[in-house]
Amino acid sequence: MTEKKVPFTKDQIEKIIKTYPTPFHIYDEKAIRRNAVKINSIFGRFPGFKEFFAVKANPNHRILSFLSEEGFGADASSMAELILSEKAGITGENVMFSSNNTPLEEYKRAMEMGAILNLDDISHISFLDENLGLPELLSFRFNPGPSRGGNDIIGKPEEAKYGFTREQLFEGYRIVKEKGVKRFGLHTMVASNELHYSYFVDTAKMLFELAVELKEELGISLEFVNIGGGIGIPYRPEQEPVDLEAIAAGIEHEYERYIKPAGLHPLKLFMECGRVIVGPYGYLVTKAIHKKDIYKHYIGVDACMANLMRPAIYGAYHHITVLGKENKSSDRVYDVTGSLCENNDKFAIDRCLPEIERGDILVIHDSGAHGHAMGFNYNGKLRSAELLLKEDGSVELIRRAETLDDYFATLNF
Ligand SMILES: *Cc1c(COP(=O)(O)O)cnc(C)c1O
Repeated sequence: MTEKKVPFTKDQIEKIIKTYPTPFHIYDEKAIRRNAVKINSIFGRFPGFKEFFAVKANPNHRILSFLSEEGFGADASSMAELILSEKAGITGENVMFSSNNTPLEEYKRAMEMGAILNLDDISHISFLDENLGLPELLSFRFNPGPSRGGNDIIGKPEEAKYGFTREQLFEGYRIVKEKGVKRFGLHTMVASNELHYSYFVDTAKMLFELAVELKEELGISLEFVNIGGGIGIPYRPEQEPVDLEAIAAGIEHEYERYIKPAGLHPLKLFMECGRVIVGPYGYLVTKAIHKKDIYKHYIGVDACMANLMRPAIYGAYHHITVLGKENKSSDRVYDVTGSLCENNDKFAIDRCLPEIERGDILVIHDSGAHGHAMGFNYNGKLRSAELLLKEDGSVELIRRAETLDDYFATLNF
């Protein structure tokens, strides 16, 4: 079980709404920092451990900058994410550039920043070499193909567009070694929102086995393996958080078994999680503006799927708290909807909730990752503000709400 509490009171939120009208996402800085400290302490047993926060999960420079204070790097995969990382003060090898189908300008920018380039395809070796030259350090993304099952969100590895095949991986390292690359990394990402710890242990083991084979066949000693992101979070109250301690213990076991005997110690362990870092510590705050009773009972709120599209596109569950009614019995059944002209614009379907009145404030949980970040403007909907609930209890506006002028800015009236 995971208790679904909110880190603020109804009074506090009512005050905040006077300055920043709903809807908005609010992120709990104290909880995010505490989580970062915990992750560093659990994985600190591995040499050179580093978490590169996946910028796409929450692309806000304020979040990036305090995560960087906690020792995290950034995992960027586009021009904007590279620039954001830089603006948050994260540069050099604290940036992992894990892109795919990468435009040349993005490689150029990443190289200028001294970021670690994690190539998605063998053809990018010559693409880089011919245009920009090869850096001293290169990492490759491995796609294990049919040998490895994926999970629901990311699908089967052999159907995924990412990464090198096994043969290409060996060929790739051989080529770049000949061309003078001196330092090597290996990456994979085969799961998304996965809750079982063993998935990540198996991933590390797979990379460790490859590290040993690369040493034997090509005489290459990898400097790091990056097990990717994808650690899940308990969106549903009946789910448990991933056992990070079990992941670390399992990986440690495989490290002792493969890496030490092969003379590859110290091999750095990297991760690039987004969701598990910030997901549970963000809340979409919205107000009930209409009640509608037809064949079903609807609560219309002032947020819509443009603010959080996971329920609409994945059927994802996001817990909802009606502020001030936490202790009332959930004896009503509602669909909670936005105003987009799409019937899937629903935050909840057939959800048991306490009776809701117009004006009630609803808090939609676990919006910290892939929430605001996935926002869009379809149907003329505007992206909301983002607020940071700081450690001293004050609130900082870290992104203003979009305005109609923003929406019209690209039109030439
Ligand atoms: C999306 C993504 C991540 C982060 O995934 P989470 O599920 O948020 O942990 C990490 N690495 C790559 C390459 C990604 O595309």
